[in-house]
Amino acid sequence: MTIPDFAGNIIDPAHEDFDTARFGWNRMIDRKPALIARCASVDDVVAAVRHAAARGMTAAARCGGHSVSGASLPENGLVIDLSGVKDIEVDREARVAHVGGGALLGELDAATQAHGLAVTAGIEPETGVGGLALGGGIGFLARKLGLTIDNLIGAQVVLADGSVVEANESEHPDLFWAIRGGGGQFGIVTRFDFRLHPIGPDIITAWSFYPLDKAQDVLGYVREFMRGASDDVSLVPAFMHVPGAEPFPAEWQGKPCLAVIAFHVGDEPTARKEVQPLLERGEMIFGYLASQPYVEFQKALAGSSPHGGRYYWKSIFVEDLCDDLVDVMIEGIRSIPGEYSMIFLETLGGAVGRVGIEETAFSNRDARYNLGISAGWSDSATDDAAVAAARACFEKLKPFSDGTVYLNYLDRDEAARAREGFGPNYDRLQKVKTKYDPGGLFPGVLNARQDNLRGE
Ligand SMILES: Cc1cc2nc3c(=O)[nH]c(=O)nc-3n(C[C@H](O)[C@H](O)[C@H](O)COP(=O)(O)OP(=O)(O)OC[C@H]3O[C@@H](n4cnc5c(N)ncnc54)[C@H](O)[C@@H]3O)c2cc1C
Repeated sequence: MTIPDFAGNIIDPAHEDFDTARFGWNRMIDRKPALIARCASVDDVVAAVRHAAARGMTAAARCGGHSVSGASLPENGLVIDLSGVKDIEVDREARVAHVGGGALLGELDAATQAHGLAVTAGIEPETGVGGLALGGGIGFLARKLGLTIDNLIGAQVVLADGSVVEANESEHPDLFWAIRGGGGQFGIVTRFDFRLHPIGPDIITAWSFYPLDKAQDVLGYVREFMRGASDDVSLVPAFMHVPGAEPFPAEWQGKPCLAVIAFHVGDEPTARKEVQPLLERGEMIFGYLASQPYVEFQKALAGSSPHGGRYYWKSIFVEDLCDDLVDVMIEGIRSIPGEYSMIFLETLGGAVGRVGIEETAFSNRDARYNLGISAGWSDSATDDAAVAAARACFEKLKPFSDGTVYLNYLDRDEAARAREGFGPNYDRLQKVKTKYDPGGLFPGVLNARQDNLRGE
């Protein structure tokens, strides 16, 4: 199979690498695309888009392949693999990064920190800048700097007709609005321009692992602490399993626990004083406080949900924590099978909440927490039990939320939740979709032609 004017690599179903190339992070998504086009340049992206359009196929970009729902793996569609379009150029004076649409978060953090600068990025360095940024981009810096999209000042986009356009406040402003939270369904972004900020090089971090019987007390403290916290501090409390290696005590390894990761970018004495109490909530399984390079901190969770595992996610935004909600989370971590399973809370507010609901396509600006259930396991025999347990936990969590959801955490059976996810921005997004992709070339939750992303 050939693609006219395409200079990259083509992997078709007959290719020996087809099976390794098609799977993304979540092994539960087992679709067979018609073709994988590994692009080496923007011209290749244009050629691949034109090829798909001419044949009436759907075409999905792939950046880091970490889509929970497998949105970058359309059945019978064209995967436009951007792994060769990942140059990162940092303009230190202007404090702007120009980032190829196929770059990974670890690469972005490394390139920007080389200049003492950063933009909000997520917790897993192998996640793609492409998918993360287009859906919003929550990370430890979000309370300080806003979401990743709140720092996006422009982008180069390949549209469904193969044209290459700039999107920013003055050129294609409707497209620029939509790609800030609306996902990758309007075109293929081949370059992101991010505003950067001085961060680090060192930050203060505290990690504490508590037995489940301390969870109410610890999260009660977290609730009060976060109500008065400055934008410099961010927490991720997560119900998870104690890692199976030293320095964790052998008798605790593999058992469910509550971990709280604290992150502080304020001056060191203030930071130490503010996060220290999180290590003083009674008997801990393990804990420490340290000063650490930001770029190293950002790698600390690499592999905790390993590539190639089997996953099923549910998530909701919640206004605040309460004891009954915490009880459901404790019951959840006890009942959901899977060695990688966790139930986590991302603390929002701060700069995230200071952007208007309709200023970008990301509408969930008021919630204090984003709550995620990430069921994760390796043995396919556990598939049904893990999915059922995650769904049951989610049903019990629903009464604590207005049902709103983060696009980037939607799983494959949740396209119908997009309306809640986009809230008041849904109709405007549909109009932009119809304008820029009238034939539904790019699959996604706004696309009537999304059968090839279906999951049970
Ligand atoms: C282990 C793990 C940790 C995570 N942590 C965080 C976190 O801390 N914060 C957070 O906000 N999210 C987080 N996420 C969610 C993550 O943001 C989404 O899964 C995101 O879609 C992944 O992007 P990707 O590029 O790796 O995925 P891909 O599967 O490559 O792409 C995802 C979607 O984006 C589209 N896309 C990708 N690149 C482009 C592009 N250049 N142009 C147009 N469309 C594109 C794809 O077509 C697809 O629809 C995490 C996910 C995982 C699995």
